[in-house]
Amino acid sequence: MGLKELGRISPEERTILAQYMSEYPVRIGQLAKDLGVAIRVSSMPTGVSGQISREGDNYVIRVNRNEARERQRFTIGHELAHYLLHRNIIDSSPDGITDTVLYRSGAPERIEFEANRLAAEIVMPMHLIEKELSEKFGGLVTEATIEGLASSFEVSKAAMEIKLSTLVEA
Ligand SMILES: [Zn+2]
Repeated sequence: MGLKELGRISPEERTILAQYMSEYPVRIGQLAKDLGVAIRVSSMPTGVSGQISREGDNYVIRVNRNEARERQRFTIGHELAHYLLHRNIIDSSPDGITDTVLYRSGAPERIEFEANRLAAEIVMPMHLIEKELSEKFGGLVTEATIEGLASSFEVSKAAMEIKLSTLVEA
């Protein structure tokens, strides 16, 4: 796990993350639970994908029930990333952080960039992508590769396409 955001996470939480990031599709709901974060699939306004807030001593992620399951999985990853990296921001507002469909929340752009990078790594661990890509697709990124990997990792094709583009540039 070479992502620099991971270096800012406590060793205990990193250990939990590593366990879940060792197989796909990553069991994101169980991961949240193990990190002590509840998930509620909720009615939310159109244009809002998710929210994480503190309720007493607990943290709760809400995801929009009207969005596709693959999308909800990424949103949970995004909100978990806020939990792992930006807990002080969540704590500083009674409503926590609320993300639009573009994963904008009013927090600085850098904050959302970090959350998206970590979310992408959580639901699409690079070492697993590389392994799958070489073993099943001969390292070749085509439309079929994107579709196949998106289906294996239970993420949207758009998310997988972005992930694979970072791989090619690396
Ligand atoms: Zn966000």
